[in-house]
Amino acid sequence: MAEREYDYLIVGAGLYGATFAHQARRHGKRCLVIDRRPHSGGNVYCEEIEGINVHKYGAHIFHTSDREVWEFVNSIVPFNRYTNSPVAVAPDGKLYNLPFNMNTFHQMWGVKTPEEAMSKLEEERREARERMLSDGISEPRNLEEQALSLIGKDIYEQLIKGYTEKQWGRPCDQLPAFIIRRLPVRMVYDNNYFDDLYQGIPEGGYNKLIDGLLEGVEVCLNEDFFSNREHWESVADTIVFTGKIDQFFGYRFGKLEYRTVSFETETIDKPNYQGNAVVNYTSGDIPYTRIIEHKHFETFGNAVYDNPKTVVSREYPTEWNENLEPYYPVNNERNQQLYERYKSLADQTDKVIFGGRLAEYRYYDMAPIIQQVLKYWK
Ligand code: UDP
Repeated sequence: MAEREYDYLIVGAGLYGATFAHQARRHGKRCLVIDRRPHSGGNVYCEEIEGINVHKYGAHIFHTSDREVWEFVNSIVPFNRYTNSPVAVAPDGKLYNLPFNMNTFHQMWGVKTPEEAMSKLEEERREARERMLSDGISEPRNLEEQALSLIGKDIYEQLIKGYTEKQWGRPCDQLPAFIIRRLPVRMVYDNNYFDDLYQGIPEGGYNKLIDGLLEGVEVCLNEDFFSNREHWESVADTIVFTGKIDQFFGYRFGKLEYRTVSFETETIDKPNYQGNAVVNYTSGDIPYTRIIEHKHFETFGNAVYDNPKTVVSREYPTEWNENLEPYYPVNNERNQQLYERYKSLADQTDKVIFGGRLAEYRYYDMAPIIQQVLKYWK
């Protein structure tokens, strides 16, 4: 049989695809990356407006406790010291620090010491537990029950319910509990959103990371795998597929659901619009979930005044359809079961590697994606 042109055809130039290509190339493999969009980077791609790197497909903040992953990404491009500390505008009109920590508890209940906060939290949790037990429930079955037993009614109503229902377009009692376990609860005055040892943004923006990963790799943009599938399947020994797994299998068992986000991006003639990169709007009455002010990802302190303009994006979550980019898998029971059926098909082929948020139908952060690819190549 004639030798195929490439060892790997990588479908999708997002973080998984780009990291895979990088490692494969290092191991002397011949790779071709294709992507149907006109740019590489998937949803971490940034667009420069007024000298500011605008996270065109949503804010991305890199965080990890894995030193190897951190050193790997920093070897491609140095990362800055950005620390995510969002604030939330609540339905009561007040501003709260996130994640839930002593600052939040002080703002919510006026408590000052960890002991006072703990006893208030215990009281809230006890009420939630008792309500659940009287309904015969011992373990939280959904996001609402999880949130109530983790943090209580006040915070659930002011900071979680509205935001989450906008974000997912479903009531909190029909969402999986694990989504909310992403958020830490801390008994110290610490507004750092992530628990991880390392975090930051690539200096000069995410495109630097992607371009660095793809250096020396052949990339074809504006190429849709599905519009010429037979051809693409013939060019390489192995396919690394990072698109939607249900589409790969022709939707034969039905369609998985995705959540997506649309952005209203605006350039404003002010140097500093909201004083923070991320401001969440947790009320169900405000249609967007958050406003991102992009310059704060890469400029710190009063250096933000060096550029007289700023760019902000309002984020509107919506249900995905064929004309939109899928962002988040909706891991409820129905979709999870459907995914498992596709996964068992995927397991039967060793010619295709399925990786990333869409192909594994998993709410991945960036670092675990890189970790997984590094492990594969070890
Ligand atoms: N969340 C919330 N209130 C907030 C921020 C987040 O209730 O102000 C919940 C919400 O359910 C969301 C989840 O926490 O889906 C995870 O939020 P995160 O900011 O990690 O989501 P991402 O940045 O990945 O969209």
